[in-house]
Parts: sequence; C-alpha cells; structure tokens
Amino acid sequence: MNYDIIIVGAGPGGIFSAYELSTKCPELKVAVFESGKPLHKRRCPIDGEKVKSCIGCKSCSIMSGFGGAGAFSDGKYNITNDFGGTLYKHVGKKRAIELMEYVDEINMRYGGEGTKLYSTAGTAFGTECIKHDLHLLNASVRHLGTDISYTVLENIYAELKGKVDFYFNTPVESIAIVEGGYEIKCKNGTYTAAKCIVSAGRIGSKWMEKVCRELEIPTTSTRVDIGVRVELPAEVFSHITDELYESKIVYRTKQYGDKVRTFCMNPKGAVVNENTNGIITVNGHSYEDPARQTGNTNFALLVAKHFSEPFRDSNGYGESIARLSNMLGGGVIVQRFGDLIRGQRSTSSRIEEAFITPTLKATPGDLSLVLPKRILDGIIEMIYALDKVAPGTANDDTLLYGVEVKFYNMEVTVDENLESCHKGLYVIGDGSGITHSLSHASASGVHVARNILESVKN
Ligand SMILES: Cc1cc2nc3c(=O)[nH]c(=O)nc-3n(C[C@H](O)[C@H](O)[C@H](O)COP(=O)(O)OP(=O)(O)OC[C@H]3O[C@@H](n4cnc5c(N)ncnc54)[C@H](O)[C@@H]3O)c2cc1C
Repeated sequence: MNYDIIIVGAGPGGIFSAYELSTKCPELKVAVFESGKPLHKRRCPIDGEKVKSCIGCKSCSIMSGFGGAGAFSDGKYNITNDFGGTLYKHVGKKRAIELMEYVDEINMRYGGEGTKLYSTAGTAFGTECIKHDLHLLNASVRHLGTDISYTVLENIYAELKGKVDFYFNTPVESIAIVEGGYEIKCKNGTYTAAKCIVSAGRIGSKWMEKVCRELEIPTTSTRVDIGVRVELPAEVFSHITDELYESKIVYRTKQYGDKVRTFCMNPKGAVVNENTNGIITVNGHSYEDPARQTGNTNFALLVAKHFSEPFRDSNGYGESIARLSNMLGGGVIVQRFGDLIRGQRSTSSRIEEAFITPTLKATPGDLSLVLPKRILDGIIEMIYALDKVAPGTANDDTLLYGVEVKFYNMEVTVDENLESCHKGLYVIGDGSGITHSLSHASASGVHVARNILESVKN
C-alpha cells in the first residue's frame, strides 16, 4: 500500500479529515487527491471587464481546489441540526453539535479568532415571525467572511502540507477494491491505500454516481430546491442581519402547502455566478471587511421539490430549469419584483432606473418564462409574507436573480461511521448527500477521521 488513507477531494470534508488524522496520529501516511488547484492559484477569470461571464474553465476555481466550494464562500458556519444537512441522523444530535463546535474551535485557532458568533435562539424577531406564520430556525452562526475564510484555509494548509501528501490538478478517475484496501486511478498512475475517504462535493456529484454504480453502493435521489436570489437595499433587512446575521426563515404557502425558505443571507454582500457542471446559476457572498461591503443584502428564496417514484432524477429536473434560464439569458436572468407582478420582462433601462444598483451583471428578462408556476407562486407568496417582518421586501425595485438551484447530491447509503457497504470506504461531505454546508461537511470529516483513529488504536 502507498498510503494508510487516501482522501479524494480537498474541500472542507477532506481537509478536516486530513487535519484530524495528521495532527492526532502523525505516523499515518495520508494523501489528498484534488482535481483543482492549490489555494493561491485559484482564480476565477471573471473580472467584470475583459471577462464578464463564465467561460467554463476546465477546472472551476470557484468550486474546485484546496478549500473546495467553500474557499470563496461567505464562510458562514451554521452550528445546528435544523439545516445544513442530516449528519445527526447518522451520528446523533449531540455528537453532531459537538463535532461542529470542534470545527469552530479549529477555525478560531487558525485565523478566525475575533469573528462574530450570532445566535437566533429566543430572539424577539423569532416571535415577530411566528405572528405572520413565518418560522425562524434556531442556529448559532459563525460568520468568517470571504476574506477571513481564505486566511483560515491558508493557515490550515501551512499546517498540513508537511504532514500530508497533496496531489493537486489530479482528478481521481476511478476507485477499485483490491486486496487489503483500495486502488485509485488517476491520469498519471495508480495509488493504493488501506482506507479511502471520498469527499467529492457537489462538483463531484456525477463522478460520485459513477463510483457508486461501479462499486454497487446503494443511493437515492429525490430532492432539489429551486428558486431565486433576492437583492434589496441592506436597510430593509438590517434590523434582522445586524442582530442575527443569517436568518433561516421557513414558510408554508397557503396556495399549495409547499415549504419556501430563505437561504444563504449576505448582508451588504454581492450576488455571484455559480457554475455547476457547465450550468450557470446564481449564489451570493459578503465580506467581513467593511471596505469591500456593498449597499445591498441578498438571500435565496428556495422552494423544496420532493419527487416520488417512478421519477428519480431530481437534479436533472433542476438542471433543466437552470438550462432554460441560460438559454434565454445567456446565463443568469434578473427581474424587478414589480415587473414580475405586472407580467412584464425587465429591460436594461428599467433596471437602470431602479433605486438599487445590481451587484451582478445579469441579463434583464422574465423569470415567469423559466420557473414553473407552482414554484414562482410560492416565491411571490413568500416575498409578501417577508414584507410583513421586513417592510420593503415586496417593493417594485427588489431584484430577483434566477435561477438559484440547490442540487442535492444523491444520498449514498452509509452507516453511523459514514462507511459504505465496503469496509474502509467512507463517503462524506456534500458528495454523500448527507451534508449541504461548511460546518456539516467539516464535521463529517472529523467524525470519519476519529473512527479511523479509533480502529487504528485497536
Ligand atoms: C459560492 C458559494 C458560497 C457558499 N457559501 C456557504 C456558506 O456561507 N455557508 C455554508 O455552510 N456553505 C456554503 N456553501 C456550501 C459549501 O461550500 C459546501 O457545503 C462545502 O464546501 C461542502 O464541502 P465538501 O468538502 O463536502 O465539498 P466541496 O467543498 O465541494 O469540495 C469537494 C472537492 O473535491 C474535489 N473533487 C471532486 N471530484 C474529484 C475527483 N474525482 N478527484 C479529485 N478531486 C475531486 C473538488 O474539486 C472539490 O475541491 C457555499 C457554496 C458556494 C459555491
């Protein structure tokens, strides 16, 4: 065997596995294979001037490389079992929180100290929400910000690079079961290890499906969340974001009984493009540094769509809707809420005349030509509901960018150790379908590493 443990993917899941293994048991031989670049070489070519929109790089620097999809994220670590994944179903609620708190401690030790920890529990805003049938989920939220997030990753990499072998620009093509462990095949050769941790994230979802098919690991896929990113003047939500930073609010629509929720709130942030397997969708982030903040707040409004048999390709459904917006708008479409309600497309001049400056250059258009009626109706109903707790949300000039799709990776069947049906093959992070967030993905990495350390001791 070349290694004791091979980790596929250097996102938060892979990094925290590597961290825990190499710091607690330095004699273990650990390697991390990553299809993207080292942190300092990750650069998205979109500069707003020469390159205005996604050019489909071979390796997307936003989604791939050391730090994974989280590297340029807003760095919001939500310490909660209420959202961000269902890790607790495998490890138990108490342990899940303990793991997330441990991740927070490491982040603080490696550059995050001084950043703010917000809490939504027992707030007056939560009470106000209930009066309007809006439900504020409980969480502690550590906001690192895109800048501090980067510093933490730099510091963790400095700690790991002497202890762990990193193979960047090295996509793993396949995983095979061999005597005594696993063999991974890359373009430049094959490598073996007694154990293998797969943390391929969202960008690796198609590849993960192939691995599960080849190794006959059972999976399920039934959910996708579809919606828009809302952008409005920061003042509209400042009474909420100043106190809570991130608020996850859930609403059940009166019309269809669908659940709509706010997601990934970025006070004074910017709306950004996201490229998932060549499909351009929308996302958002913000900076801790006041000099880089904007006058707008953005957040996603997502409608959860659960499918039942015989339909099994929930992500394919989400992709088709995102493709439609790419077809009509050449990428992301932006529309004023007032235009949407009046049944008219937004035009460049209507956007220019608005009392808000968009932070993303998107194509003015008509989201009603893209989003299914049921989803659009849910979003409109939620905007009016939010207007009661944050007046101004339903203003004509509120910008809606579409589409935002939250793809859920198919869920890989793993046990309480996150071990697949093959002994020594672990599937963690967003690629497992069990986590959908930085804190849960990182926690899953620590959990698996601790189980491996336990088995090594015995
Ligand atoms: C713009 C943006 C903002 C976000 N903001 C937040 C936020 O504020 N808070 C939050 O909780 N979450 C946020 N998220 C989500 C968060 O980033 C993910 O939940 C988290 O990164 C998942 O970690 P992971 O390790 O499971 O996967 P990833 O971070 O996706 O990492 C997987 C890594 O595996 C590599 N890989 C895939 N396949 C292979 C292969 N075959 N061989 C080798 N390497 C491979 C990929 O290149 C990637 O680097 C955001 C995501 C984006 C895109």
